[in-house]
Amino acid sequence: MRVSELPSLSLQQHKLQAVDELLSLQDMVRWAVSRMAEAGIYFGHGTDNPVDEAVLLVTHALGLPWNQVDQWRDCRLTRQERERIVELICCRIEQRVPAPYLVGEAWFCGLPYVVDERVLIPRSPIAELIENGFQPWLQHEPKRIMDLCTGSGCIGIACAMQFEQAEVELLDISFDALAVAEENIQRLQVEDRVIALQSDLFAAASGKYDLIVSNPPYVDADDMACLPDEFHHEPELALAAGDDGLDLVRIMLSQARELLTDNGVVVVEVGNSWPALAEAYPQLPFQWQEFERGGHGVFVLNAADLDNL
Ligand code: GLN
Repeated sequence: MRVSELPSLSLQQHKLQAVDELLSLQDMVRWAVSRMAEAGIYFGHGTDNPVDEAVLLVTHALGLPWNQVDQWRDCRLTRQERERIVELICCRIEQRVPAPYLVGEAWFCGLPYVVDERVLIPRSPIAELIENGFQPWLQHEPKRIMDLCTGSGCIGIACAMQFEQAEVELLDISFDALAVAEENIQRLQVEDRVIALQSDLFAAASGKYDLIVSNPPYVDADDMACLPDEFHHEPELALAAGDDGLDLVRIMLSQARELLTDNGVVVVEVGNSWPALAEAYPQLPFQWQEFERGGHGVFVLNAADLDNL
């Protein structure tokens, strides 16, 4: 009999077999990889492949740190532990819940953030710019930084870690998101320099900032219509931005100059909407960034670039 002629099992049957027949932690990781590959789930919320995803979920179900998995791979698991693992993996597969929501945590710039369905899962390629201290764009250490549309607070808090003297404001329109950002401020112990403010775009801003950084909603209507199911667990408010994805970015560009110091810099992610933005503002010298770890559609502008807008 050819492999293709073997009867295929339902996920329910696979679950029962895994609980009955498998033994080790590594067995469960291997099983999870097979099931996730078979189901064709989407990766890109925290991990980009089924192996890392499986390690994350299996270790979470066992209450073990994912980054120490190697010392326990051969350990046998109890039946109850196997049951817990298969339930979690099936939640990932059947409901398409992104892994960071299942484990309540996502890593960004080497820091662990609390996340849940009130905020987008941190994944912005702006992480690389933060790690490089926004070089060569920032001429001085920034004193005041704004993270606009902060969500979990990941970008602004990572900036606060990078620039240890800076005061950082995290702005978001969503009270739900701000509650999560506030948790992250406490968790990462930056409450002396970082505050979260409810604000419709720049409404709560005051004074001038050396750095305005933002990963705003920018998904256009076409992309919204064909997002993988995983994205539907994220707040739509954090993703959608009108027909061409530029509803918020247009307002940001028109107001940013007066909030920037003369050497100030604005850094914004617009993802797939970057061609539409470049076409809408041919007069602006957007510096589109390249990333070692993937991602696209992030521009840098200097304050002076916005002078004649
Ligand atoms: N700033 C957050 C992030 O980068 C949230 C972005 C958003 O909600 N659009 O993950």
